[in-house]
Amino acid sequence: MSIEEAKIIVCAAGKKLLKEGLAARTWGNVSVRISDREMVITPSGRKYDELTPADMVLVDFYTLKFEGHLKPSSELKLHARVYKTRSHINAVIHTHQMNASIVAAAQKNLVVLDAGHERILGGKIIKTAPYALPNSKKITVETEKCIEASNAALMANHGVVCIGKKLDDAFDVAHTLEKACELFVNSGKQTA
Ligand SMILES: [Zn+2]
Repeated sequence: MSIEEAKIIVCAAGKKLLKEGLAARTWGNVSVRISDREMVITPSGRKYDELTPADMVLVDFYTLKFEGHLKPSSELKLHARVYKTRSHINAVIHTHQMNASIVAAAQKNLVVLDAGHERILGGKIIKTAPYALPNSKKITVETEKCIEASNAALMANHGVVCIGKKLDDAFDVAHTLEKACELFVNSGKQTA
């Protein structure tokens, strides 16, 4: 994928996050891998409905050096760590989606109750990383650890990270995670 193609895709994905209610509380962020050391990511501090592809930021995920007229998303380090540790992953979404945020606020691991959800999420248990300051080394390391073999992790009092081979897969994970968290909350099992 070229840089230009990636910028168009990431920009559209940022708007999709908003449209599909995955960025309910505050903005999330989206990135795609374009090579073995570079990603294109949404910028920080901009409203997605006003963004254009030219606002997307090219980042070297080893040095975190970036090219673009805006700064990369504040969760840059988490995206970078996922790409560095998982060569088969090409898309990362970080959201503050509602139901997952409820489970994350309770600082519980999610127990996936539906077998179909389990297949898409890549595990029966989706772990919640302990609270740490956004974009800190701690949140980056702890969250990445929690992803383990699954395709998502929750972040206490913050949000979620969803990963995929393709951007569509990561969106699928984010939507499925919402459904799985809703089911879990309604089951009353979160107090167990
Ligand atoms: Zn966040």
